[in-house]
Amino acid sequence: MTTISANLQAVRERIAAAARKCGRRPEEISLLAVSKSWPASVVREAAAAGQQAFGENYVQEALAKVAELAALRLEWHFIGPLQSNKTRMVAAAFAWVHSIDRLKVAERLAEQRPTGLPPLQVCLQVNVSGETSKSGVAPDAAAALAHAVAALPNLKLRGLMAVPEELSDFGQQRAAFCRLRWIYDRLRDDGLPLDTLSMGMSQDLEAAITEGSTLVRVGTAIFGGRHRL
Ligand SMILES: *Cc1c(COP(=O)(O)O)cnc(C)c1O
Repeated sequence: MTTISANLQAVRERIAAAARKCGRRPEEISLLAVSKSWPASVVREAAAAGQQAFGENYVQEALAKVAELAALRLEWHFIGPLQSNKTRMVAAAFAWVHSIDRLKVAERLAEQRPTGLPPLQVCLQVNVSGETSKSGVAPDAAAALAHAVAALPNLKLRGLMAVPEELSDFGQQRAAFCRLRWIYDRLRDDGLPLDTLSMGMSQDLEAAITEGSTLVRVGTAIFGGRHRL
């Protein structure tokens, strides 16, 4: 077994153990392998070990991998900060975008999603850690943005995403995820058909799953420490 396939197995076991511990079914939580800074050959190795969905943060880096690995029919998720001058490439190459934090970017993605492709699956990124994180819509502005994005053509609003500040205490990790979950539940109460809570990374996926995560985004625990292409 290669290191990557062993790491993937270990991460899947962590997800299953965390789910069981809080009375959830492991199948409710999907695994996004975050391959930023790793070359296409490494993605290919993870794909050979059964991983289908990959997350990328940087547009140019991602496009090269998407093109090189097109034959593998992987599912690509854009999870990094998105500038409005890069939306056209993202709208064409990705299945999902997790990092919508303003209407202008969502409108451009909606307008630029190529006809013939299914709707782009999107999540709003919410800044649940206040000043310590720059990205994401403020919690009190999330509902207005969600309703506006849900009304756009060619996009399907699936849920919310957060990257809380790094904390080592399990209870504090849970508290940040709980804030995202609370906003998510209010939006569902309002009638938005959301099904995705994109939260949890290598260091905090257990806390995220305890708070209801349906998708964890894991890089380091699968691929190792950051590496430059
Ligand atoms: C890098 C990154 C991840 C993965 O983080 P790890 O700590 O390496 O697991 C998840 N989400 C986002 C938005 C990232 O930028």
